[in-house]
Amino acid sequence: MTRVLLSEDHPQYVTEAHGCRFTGADGREYLDLMCGWGPVVLGYAHPAVRRAADEQTRLGDCVNGAAPVMVELAELLVDTVPSADWAMFAKNGTDATTTCVTIARAATGRRKVLTAHGAYHGAVPWCTPGKSGVTVEDRAHVDHFEYNDIASLGAAVDRAGGDLAAIVVCPFRHDVRRDQELADPEFARAVRALCNRTGAAMILDDVRCGFRLSLGGSWEPLGVRPDLAAWSKAMANGYALAAVTGIAALRDAASDVYVTGSFWYSAVSMAASVATLTELRETDALVRMDRAGQRLRDGLDAQAKRHGLEVNQTGPVQMPLLTFAGDPEFTVATRWAREAVTRGVYLHPTHNWFLSAAHTESDIDEILDRTEDAFAAIARSVGGLSPN
Ligand code: PMP
Repeated sequence: MTRVLLSEDHPQYVTEAHGCRFTGADGREYLDLMCGWGPVVLGYAHPAVRRAADEQTRLGDCVNGAAPVMVELAELLVDTVPSADWAMFAKNGTDATTTCVTIARAATGRRKVLTAHGAYHGAVPWCTPGKSGVTVEDRAHVDHFEYNDIASLGAAVDRAGGDLAAIVVCPFRHDVRRDQELADPEFARAVRALCNRTGAAMILDDVRCGFRLSLGGSWEPLGVRPDLAAWSKAMANGYALAAVTGIAALRDAASDVYVTGSFWYSAVSMAASVATLTELRETDALVRMDRAGQRLRDGLDAQAKRHGLEVNQTGPVQMPLLTFAGDPEFTVATRWAREAVTRGVYLHPTHNWFLSAAHTESDIDEILDRTEDAFAAIARSVGGLSPN
C-alpha cells in the first residue's frame, strides 16, 4: 500500500476550520494547503453553503423519498456541464467511478475496462492500489496503459479487442509520489477517438479536479467531452456527495443498473451542492483560485532559488505539488513539509495540494513568509546545495 501519511508534527485531529485556516487539537492555528484533501473549494464553513445546509436540515435530510433539491441540483449540473444530459447522486468518489464502470458495462454488454498505470480511482477491489483482500478475479477485466502515451493506450485497446467497455481517465496525472503531469491534448483526443471507434464509453474521473479547474468539466478547455463523468470532492464544499453525469445515449443503461445506498438521498449535501455550484458560477472564485495559485508558485520558486535549492512545481497552480530535484525517496520534501508545519503551514510532500477561493493574496503571502524559513532550514541542512 502506498504510504501518504504525514509527519508526527502534522496535527492528526482538527477542532475547528474557517476559510483557509484550521485549529489542531494542539490548539495551534494552521494555514491550510490541503482543503480537506480536496472537498473544500470555497473555504471551510463558507457562509452561503452553511446557510443552505442549515435550511435543508430544518426541512429534512434523510427521509423516505428524495427532496426537490435533488432535481434542482441535477438541473444545475446539466446546465453547468456540457457533456451532461442527466445526473445521478451517491456519496463518495469511489461510488461515482464504480457506477460509471457499471453503466458502461451495462450499455455495451462488454467487460474490459482500461485505466492508467498508477491512477487512483477509488478504494474498492476493481481499482484499489492496495493488494490486501483483493483477488485476481476482482481485477480480471481491468487492464492498464501509460498516461499520455497514445501507443500504450492503443495497445491496451487492441488487447481488449471486442470486449472493451470503457476507458477511465483522470484530467491530468496526479498519482501520489511522482511529479504531476498535465494531459497532452493529443492524448485526450486519442482517448475520445478510440472510444468513438470501438463503441466503448469514455469515463472522465473528475472526482479530484472537478469544479476546481474548469466548471464544465476539466477537459472542456481541451474540447474533449466524456460519455460519463465521475464527480465528488469539491461539489458540495465538504458535505458528503458524489455524482455521475452522462450523455443521453447512456440514460437507459444508467436507469437500469442497480445502485443505491442508505444515505444517497440525503438532502443536506445536495442543498450544500446547489449553493456551492451557484457560488462558483456567479463569482470569480475560479479566477481567484488560479491567481492565488500562481502567486504561491512564483513565490516558492523565488524562495527555492534564493536558497540554492532546485525544486519542481508541477500540475495546475490550483492543485500544485513541490518536489526537490534528486530526491527520489522524498526525504527532502518530507523534511521540508515538516519544517513548514512546525511554522504553521499544512502541506504534503508527495500528494498534490489544493487551493480554495478562500486563499487571499495576503494569506498566500503569510504562507510564503513561513515557507521562506522552511526553505532556509533545509538549505542549512543540505549546505545550500541541490539535495543530491
Ligand atoms: N478518483 C480520484 C481521481 C480521486 O482523487 C479519488 C479520491 N482521492 C477517488 C476517485 C475516490 O474518491 P473517494 O475517496 O471519495 O471514494
